Amino acid sequence: MTGSDKTSKIEEWGDADHFRSKVAYWAEKMRVEPKRVSLRPMTTKWASCSTNGLVSFSTQLLNESPEFGEYVIVHELLHLKIPNHSKLFKSILTAHLPDWKERAGLTAGRSLDEGMELR
Ligand SMILES: [Zn+2]
Repeated sequence: MTGSDKTSKIEEWGDADHFRSKVAYWAEKMRVEPKRVSLRPMTTKWASCSTNGLVSFSTQLLNESPEFGEYVIVHELLHLKIPNHSKLFKSILTAHLPDWKERAGLTAGRSLDEGMELR
């Protein structure tokens, strides 16, 4: 590891603010404007997103690898544009995170959000 890493790669989540700053980074990059982003304990899934622009992430994500957390962020923010897991959804996801399938496989257990599994 050197200090000149110019990618957005992160070693681990610092705290909730770190996570939120990553959400803000991706929201700007993806040109979406979530009305509100909340981090809260969620027992059955990693994240959710409502049609009125509220995006919620499980605080449990802070204990997972950043690669996985970042995938969840991009996935949920993309739902603000596309509310399903269609081919279009997957192709845009791939454009932003070409390795999303690997990232999604970094953890097992609860589902990412309601509906279809994306693995
Ligand atoms: Zn989804």
